[in-house]
Amino acid sequence: MPGAVVRGPSGDERTLYVTVDDGPDASGTPRWLDALDRHGARAVFFLSAGRAEARPDLVRAIVDAGHRVGNHGDAHVSAWRTRPREVRAGFERAERVLEDLTGEPVRDVRPPYGRVTPSIVRWARAGNRRIVLWDVMPGDFLPSRSPSTLADEVVRLARPGSIVALHDGAPAPRAIAALDLALPRLAAAGWRFPALPPP
Ligand SMILES: [Zn+2]
Repeated sequence: MPGAVVRGPSGDERTLYVTVDDGPDASGTPRWLDALDRHGARAVFFLSAGRAEARPDLVRAIVDAGHRVGNHGDAHVSAWRTRPREVRAGFERAERVLEDLTGEPVRDVRPPYGRVTPSIVRWARAGNRRIVLWDVMPGDFLPSRSPSTLADEVVRLARPGSIVALHDGAPAPRAIAALDLALPRLAAAGWRFPALPPP
């Protein structure tokens, strides 16, 4: 996908970047923060503006725990079914909301469903933003996938600099159980789990 990244910097390092979409969530986010701490991992949380405004305390908790925040838009619309002007306005509103709540620049953008359009690419480039997709998406949103299946998928697909896409909300317990299995296996093989550095 031109104009978007699917992996982060790695050099020769065994580095895996965890990302968590669709928060913040009253039940899921605190569990995510505990889980990431358990494994010495840091993540980028791609937040929706409306959800962030409803729980500014959770946005604060994410940043205070050493994680980063990215822009997941305003109302979780698909850019393939929404007028480009509306899509851009949603990202811009989300950017203002998230920068206000975090007190930090929010320059990483993940369009909902990974649906990137030429208009989003131009908008991102004009504002020095980075579109962040992923190269590992084990499908934690599918209730049929067990944590051990998800964990196997993460371990199998991990490459230096891989970005793994997981979810807050309903999938959180399944995704966290999967990381509880996958990250110790990867750590034993020398992998580290820092947050994707800012663009
Ligand atoms: Zn999403």
